[in-house]
Amino acid sequence: MSTTLIKNGTVINSTGSGAADVLVDGETVAALLQPGSTALGVDLEATVDEVVDAAGKYVIPGGIDPHTHMELPFGGTQASDTFETGTRAAAWGGTTTIIDFAVQRYGERVEDGLATWHAKAAGNACIDYGFHQIVGGVDEFSLKAMDSLIEEGVTSFKLFMAYKGVFLSDDGQIVKAMQRAATNGSMIMMHAENGSVIDLLVQQAIAAGNTTPYNHGLTRPWQAEEEATHRAIMLANLTGAPLYVVHVSAKQAVEQIAIARDRGQNVFGETCPQYLYLSLEDQLGATSE
Ligand SMILES: [Zn+2]
Repeated sequence: MSTTLIKNGTVINSTGSGAADVLVDGETVAALLQPGSTALGVDLEATVDEVVDAAGKYVIPGGIDPHTHMELPFGGTQASDTFETGTRAAAWGGTTTIIDFAVQRYGERVEDGLATWHAKAAGNACIDYGFHQIVGGVDEFSLKAMDSLIEEGVTSFKLFMAYKGVFLSDDGQIVKAMQRAATNGSMIMMHAENGSVIDLLVQQAIAAGNTTPYNHGLTRPWQAEEEATHRAIMLANLTGAPLYVVHVSAKQAVEQIAIARDRGQNVFGETCPQYLYLSLEDQLGATSE
């Protein structure tokens, strides 16, 4: 294993920032040293394979992006990034690990979905990667697969409350998967939107000829997100499963997560940059016309 000393930089970590030298052994941070420290020898520089001068620069841990979709086919199109292009871009931005989503659609085998995503990523990723498993069809086979996937390092399972016939789980299926997660130590991730309501609003918008991008937001109102978020939290509460609500976009849904956390429930939420920058009134210049 080769060793690298990153010296003269300002190290940023979870507890703050300060001047420190970093000794890296292979892929592991072996030591954080006070500048000028002789704890590992009077001339550490002479004993390492590479010295990087980070004077005037920040030295930060690699970022972990826990929600990516490389090469995801969806809605008749496909995510534009491959594991190679997406992870190359990630590395330039300082992200050194992604957790992508292996996909099981309704009617498919979970194990086949994971194998497909392993094949897409193998030998193509420039950084570390792991997988969450999307379970689009909760049945006795996929529930059993949740146990065996944990053995392979997949410990989080994403369910959908929308996309009927493709991904949607009804409340009974959600409870079954959550019961499994509560007993096998895994975590449930939830796409929390009321799919039946959204499907209806979409049909009505199309029938009325309201098909511009602006209507995408109107057919996915905050009430459908808050309701589903609350329902997912209650079902998780019932079963004791940890819950991670993905791509939260409405402040009302955030409030539900905050209430649950204040009560001591094991619930987390994430958002996405676009939800922080684009409002319904100002979404990439799209108009209601
Ligand atoms: Zn996603």
